[in-house]
Amino acid sequence: MTDIAAYDGGTVTNWAGNITFTPHEVHRPGSLHELRELVARSRKVRVLGSGHSFNRIADSEDVLLSLAALPPSVEVDTAARTVRVAGGVRYAELARRVHEHGLALHNMASLPHISVAGSVATGTHGSGNANGSLAAAVREVELVTADGSTVTLRRGEDRFGGAVVALGALGVVTALTLDLVPGFEVSQRVYRDLPLDGLDFAAVSSAAYSVSLFTDWRGPRFTQVWLKQRADAPAPDFPWAAPATEPMHPVPGMPAVNCTQQFGVPGPWHERLPHFRAEFMPSSGAELQSEYLLDRSDALAALHALDSVRDTIAPVLQICEVRTVAADDQWLSPAYGRDTVALHFTWVKDTASVLPVVSLVEDRLAPFAPRPHWGKVFTTSPAVLRKLYPRMSEFVGLAETLDPEGTFRNPFVRQVLAGRAERPEQI
Ligand SMILES: Cc1cc2nc3c(=O)[nH]c(=O)nc-3n(C[C@H](O)[C@H](O)[C@H](O)COP(=O)(O)OP(=O)(O)OC[C@H]3O[C@@H](n4cnc5c(N)ncnc54)[C@H](O)[C@@H]3O)c2cc1C
Repeated sequence: MTDIAAYDGGTVTNWAGNITFTPHEVHRPGSLHELRELVARSRKVRVLGSGHSFNRIADSEDVLLSLAALPPSVEVDTAARTVRVAGGVRYAELARRVHEHGLALHNMASLPHISVAGSVATGTHGSGNANGSLAAAVREVELVTADGSTVTLRRGEDRFGGAVVALGALGVVTALTLDLVPGFEVSQRVYRDLPLDGLDFAAVSSAAYSVSLFTDWRGPRFTQVWLKQRADAPAPDFPWAAPATEPMHPVPGMPAVNCTQQFGVPGPWHERLPHFRAEFMPSSGAELQSEYLLDRSDALAALHALDSVRDTIAPVLQICEVRTVAADDQWLSPAYGRDTVALHFTWVKDTASVLPVVSLVEDRLAPFAPRPHWGKVFTTSPAVLRKLYPRMSEFVGLAETLDPEGTFRNPFVRQVLAGRAERPEQI
């Protein structure tokens, strides 16, 4: 990948290398003043975060921006238990700084290498029945809008429902203020071979603070279950599967040294909640990903629907991960208004072979109104997306108010907001 944070000419790709972006210009403004001037004089603008999305959501028809040259400020307010973080900062750095103050984020995604602004813009989440998506922690969003002016949207305002999971469509997010919680320790344990038959999903998913089930769909069972339990809670009782006897990586054949500490050794929240260590690349990038978020009460039925086509899924799958996310109130959040189960697929990196299977998965999950992860590969049509998001028209109104000329709308966003196309061309 040509990392936009170190851009010195040439093409820019996403982390996985399956998308080559097509901007006319790439810019890394060094000050807020420069950023505002640049936005005000540009016809079309998009921001690329850490480039971990697998589709064209971040692409630009004109200017592609990186915020990597702006000061990476992280301002912790210990009394208010909040942190204000600049738009280009990644979770690894944020977590380290927050931890130094004895505070914590409520949850993290599977890897800390992703930018905070890019993650919350797509509804990125970790796991845990009571844990909302990463966007749920955001209380304030600071934006540079199309005319170069600054706007702050705060929790409690009517339009805040569209402000966080915003797909980059409202403006450049220059800073976010997040809720923090008191620091805590977590111990992580891995179990092996949990059968799908007889699965009590509610019991399994509530066995720890954060639970992930992994399967390669080569059989009706989960190859691994990862339990992340707060050290101040009782050790989890998990009678349904056997504890692992060696350190595990979720993907068969990948080195466990990349993964966070297991075997119940307690450690700081930010060194246990992600699956992958900040100091390692989680993988070579030789993968594609898709994910669908549905009502948690449909978890078992959806898993059986996938099991019925596992012979088609397995040959192009590296690993499938099942997590839970608490309902939130961001209009475009895939966890909007419903306690959620998230069905994630890490595919082989072969778009032509994977896409028909993605469509098959969408077809089998269709009875459960699956909302695709905004940053991953999907073929759901904009017309269907519109029905999946009851507050989509309010989001369209907010985007048109803050950005009347559509400066921040690329083909991906235009299609989603128009909600008419039967086939997603840019998605
Ligand atoms: C290995 C791997 C593991 C992953 N694990 C998880 C996981 O555990 N859970 C999960 O839910 N997802 C996961 N993802 C998906 C990932 O979290 C999302 O794709 C997320 O959007 C990545 O953040 P980013 O900074 O790379 O965003 P980008 O892909 O760079 O951008 C995403 C969107 O955010 C916008 N954006 C970025 N920065 C700004 C800004 N400052 N202002 C305005 N708009 C902005 C972009 O324009 C774009 O629309 C994973 C992806 C990978 C590659």
